[in-house]
Amino acid sequence: MSEINVQPDAPIARVIVEIALDKEFDYRIPDTWRDTLRIGSQVVVPFGRRKITGYVVGFVDRSEHEHLKDILRVVGKRPLITEPIVALARWMADYYACSLEQAVRAVLPSVVRRSSGKFKEVHHVSLVEGSDVPGLRERLLKRAPKQAAVLDWLEREPVTPLPRLTLETGATLATVRAMETKGLVRVEKKTVHRNPFEKYRVIPTDPLPLMPQQQEALNLIRQSVETLQPPVVLLFGVTGSGKTEVYLQALQQVLDQGKGAIVLVPEISLTPQTVERFRARFGDVVAVLHSHLSGGERHDEWHRVRSGDARIAIGARSALFAPIENLGLIVVDEEHENSYKQEEAPRYHARDVAVMRGHMEKCAVVLGTATPALESIHNAQAGKYGLSRLPARVDHRRMPAMRVVDMRAEMEKEGRLNVLSRDLLEAITMRLEHKEQTILFLNRRGFATSLVCPKCGYVAECSECSVAMTYHKPSHELRCHICGAARKVPDRCPAPTCRDPAFRYAGLGTQRVEEAVAKIFSHAKVERMDADTTTKKEAYGRILGAFRAGEIDILLGTQMIAKGLDFPNVTLVGVINADTALHMPDFRAGERTFQLLTQVAGRAGRGDVAGEVIVQTFTPFHPAIQAARRLDYDGFFDQEIEYRRELFYPPFAHLLCMTLRGKREADVVEAGKRFYEQMKARLDSRVIIAGPNPAPLARAKGEFRYQIMFRAAHTRQITRPLKAVLSEFKWPRTVRHAVDVDALSML
Ligand code: ADP
Ligand code: ZN
Repeated sequence: MSEINVQPDAPIARVIVEIALDKEFDYRIPDTWRDTLRIGSQVVVPFGRRKITGYVVGFVDRSEHEHLKDILRVVGKRPLITEPIVALARWMADYYACSLEQAVRAVLPSVVRRSSGKFKEVHHVSLVEGSDVPGLRERLLKRAPKQAAVLDWLEREPVTPLPRLTLETGATLATVRAMETKGLVRVEKKTVHRNPFEKYRVIPTDPLPLMPQQQEALNLIRQSVETLQPPVVLLFGVTGSGKTEVYLQALQQVLDQGKGAIVLVPEISLTPQTVERFRARFGDVVAVLHSHLSGGERHDEWHRVRSGDARIAIGARSALFAPIENLGLIVVDEEHENSYKQEEAPRYHARDVAVMRGHMEKCAVVLGTATPALESIHNAQAGKYGLSRLPARVDHRRMPAMRVVDMRAEMEKEGRLNVLSRDLLEAITMRLEHKEQTILFLNRRGFATSLVCPKCGYVAECSECSVAMTYHKPSHELRCHICGAARKVPDRCPAPTCRDPAFRYAGLGTQRVEEAVAKIFSHAKVERMDADTTTKKEAYGRILGAFRAGEIDILLGTQMIAKGLDFPNVTLVGVINADTALHMPDFRAGERTFQLLTQVAGRAGRGDVAGEVIVQTFTPFHPAIQAARRLDYDGFFDQEIEYRRELFYPPFAHLLCMTLRGKREADVVEAGKRFYEQMKARLDSRVIIAGPNPAPLARAKGEFRYQIMFRAAHTRQITRPLKAVLSEFKWPRTVRHAVDVDALSML
């Protein structure tokens, strides 16, 4: 096979097609299209008897196939995918061991990809030039007052969308048509931009004079933008240290140089308030790419980026693929966030791909966080990334004091286990008296995490998944949080030998905390925010709005409330149970707990009053909890990194998790063993391979799940042989598999 070129002087184009085929096809390029065709061009090609669309991913001089067909036509003037994005997709397919087709799907939003995605056109009415408006109005005023009103309006707004004109003036469509016939106005179709922020008015802001440490950080980033030395800057600043202001000023410089930028924020922090800070500084050059936008808005925002009208794209994970040309800077805020990892194929990590995109397009990358991922700080220490620290909050507001409450001692003292410890109870009481706000955090929704028979020990489990079912009190039912199945609460123990009618609800969920808190503080306004109260799109914004407006005294919820929210009147944060994340079957459990506590704590004391954090736990001396209490990232890091080094875990190794699943366990195990053997035969001896073992979540949605784990210093030591084995492996029809490179979730 000949080399793949990027220049279209070759006679043959390599095309991937829209239908789910993991292959590239060669087509001849007819002369008529030679000049228009680029890498990334969308094309229509004959395929069997059909005509389908595809994308050009390369050019070749010769093909191993004979009788090539011609490309029928090229869609649009400019390719939808830019050349660098095609190159990035190729890299992703290689690194994450997925198909190029999956990678292309990830980089091109479906609303843009589908040819049904269209611009919206609306009729606009405008004055015909040269009309003597005052004279006309004079004559129309008595005979046709509606027409006069239209003229009046158009004098103020010379080009007005028809629906708006009729609404504002009370004129009917017939009136406007009559005026058109008389030659007074013109009615034309125009493309309108569906602006997701039409309703939000932003007040422009000016750059703030920076604190010395912010200035140092900005200098380092500017140096990186200018010289790519260092190519990546890790901005390690405590919550409230003014990282966002640093991003804003770095972005300004990039815009001044005529370049564009991408800002990634975790899905959950992509609130109107976040976007507003960027729009307030840069106005309409900011485009937002967000899954919560309507399809039309997403389509239009994407095309604003593609056309160059928008120069800064802000969004969650997939905004990384925004087709910004002449890219100067990529900012990844909260780089430690797990939501940057996509949990379906291609299982890419947006932070890592951002670093790669920066490398490929020679653009600087900033990773910002208050709790760097071990991988990132390790890269900084190894000299791969530049490091800038902002250890203090802006205006030297104090970091909140964190108190750890030992729930074992508490239980002994009280003779029972209460939801709220004495300390937390008193602290909330005080906040209510001072009209300050409290956030309570618990990472489990539902009322009770299991239903247990105290007599025989029976636990209500999902019939399809290997997990206990959660009790939901409002609907009085058991629900599986894996598959969503719901079941009636049995009125007696179903175990045939037991049949005892008494059940016990074990394990705290947010509903139970809400009930307890509302009972104790009956005069306070309590609101719960978790996946169950925010099923409607607006609910999230409504609850946060009410909290901001001071209409809620105590807000309790899951990780939804832990991240990035900035409420000046919150002076207390209570963590109901710090141990939930610690007991996850995952080598990152300590790191997660540390990050979570630090992030949650960052919600307290953002205003003028110092904040307080109370953490309830049954393991008060756990290093992650103690380090979080002391605000001691370095201490935590030093200890954790040693343990990772000894056990050859990330960041010292890359970890690849392969999951096999199927309804017939014997088939899954058989395929797993065979796969293991074939890999073992090809792997070099430095690669560690283990499995197949039942996954921690051993059964889900009726399927048995097994894992094979690989660890190696370089991903390719695993993925090269893996691809070879995958290309010839005979899978049983009942077994499916997933490959997760740099896996974050081990379930
Ligand atoms: P972070 O992103 O690190 O959590 P923010 O950028 O949100 O911090 O800053 C916290 C608060 O401090 C914001 O209200 C911001 O407007 C303000 N702030 C940031 N930099 C400055 C500065 N140099 N002078 C005054 N206020 C600042
Ligand atoms: Zn289930």
